[in-house]
Amino acid sequence: MTLEELDKKYVLKTYNRNYTNFIKGDGSTLFADNGDEYIDFASGIAVNSVGHNNPTLVKALQEQVEKIIHISNLQVIEPQAKLAEKICTLANYDGAIFFANSGAEANEGAIKIARKYGETKFDKKRYKVITLEHSFHGRTITTVKATGQESFHSPNFSPYPDGFLYVDGLEEVYNSIDDETVAVMIELVQGEGGVQPFEKEAIQKLEKYLKERDVLLIVDEVQTGIYRTGKMLASNMYEISPDIITMAKGLGGGVPIGAVMTKHKDILSAGDHGSTFGGNYLSTRAGLAVLEVLSEMESSGKLTETLAYFTIKLKEMANKYPNLFTEEVGLGLMRGLRAKDNDTMKAVLSKCMKNKLITLPAGRNTVRFLPALTITVDEIDEGFKRFEEAVSTL
Ligand SMILES: *Cc1c(COP(=O)(O)O)cnc(C)c1O
Repeated sequence: MTLEELDKKYVLKTYNRNYTNFIKGDGSTLFADNGDEYIDFASGIAVNSVGHNNPTLVKALQEQVEKIIHISNLQVIEPQAKLAEKICTLANYDGAIFFANSGAEANEGAIKIARKYGETKFDKKRYKVITLEHSFHGRTITTVKATGQESFHSPNFSPYPDGFLYVDGLEEVYNSIDDETVAVMIELVQGEGGVQPFEKEAIQKLEKYLKERDVLLIVDEVQTGIYRTGKMLASNMYEISPDIITMAKGLGGGVPIGAVMTKHKDILSAGDHGSTFGGNYLSTRAGLAVLEVLSEMESSGKLTETLAYFTIKLKEMANKYPNLFTEEVGLGLMRGLRAKDNDTMKAVLSKCMKNKLITLPAGRNTVRFLPALTITVDEIDEGFKRFEEAVSTL
């Protein structure tokens, strides 16, 4: 059986897969089994934040694997405690962290913290969580319900849990809060929804309004977190201090990890929540190595340089091909080119792949770019050269 046949026979068909078989990666270059070299502008959907085969991450993992990979959360786990401290410090956040294994699971943790806050802090229980249209919060039954896209709420998986409503835009949040609302959950840049950042002033105004009413602000930084927008968290860039922040994708550099961080350190008590794998030696050691690399890149100014260079190149493409793209969107290295329509987006993605450049879709018509934060000038140049070869024929 070929690999494609094997996959089709034994793996459930939940993805529309491409069947290029990548066997090795180095930085932002990927090598297929037939010898083809691809430029990676997707980094595993913002996961390989320090690129492929990053020496600091590889060394940390090798050393960790030889010592201990996993022990249960009934024991203290040294890299877990250190990673929690490091995240709080880099994010300048006076909080504490629970570790999970994915973004959805981090968001589940956030919702549990909010619900218990709503149960224990008020005479009448508050339990409703407001989210936004075009948001994305995960694929578990609860987080898919929290996701404000009707297309995700298929009757195939109903009934969904109660207590979620989504509204069209930030302004609508104000009218939707009632005495049962416990939290508002948002992304600062909607990733899956189309790489759409919110205005800083609008977010700060919302934060202030919620604080006055003791309604929690949950910021889903699963995609925007870990230097993706140029700062440790997008919340740092927006200069807000949410009640709860979730992280995942870029944190482990490819090793599965999720984290929910809150300033309400005493809401959850022993037995309220847990995870077998969450925060084990392997994933938290990975997180420490990733943060070591990226925090150094930020403080040296290297990250800012990379963001600026990528931005110039992307704007060039938007200006040069107005027949294909209506605008350039996003923040930091979470970027997009808004295509004229869905067909144009699809054509661009498939042309890029043929030209050995990996890009991603977002929303209905956005070509999305989520390169490793360690991407080099040469890789950016080569990637955009391929991009232009691809789109100039359309
Ligand atoms: C990817 C993503 C999730 C889901 O993360 P998983 O690790 O796939 O569960 C949740 N929220 C946002 C904003 C995301 O981008």
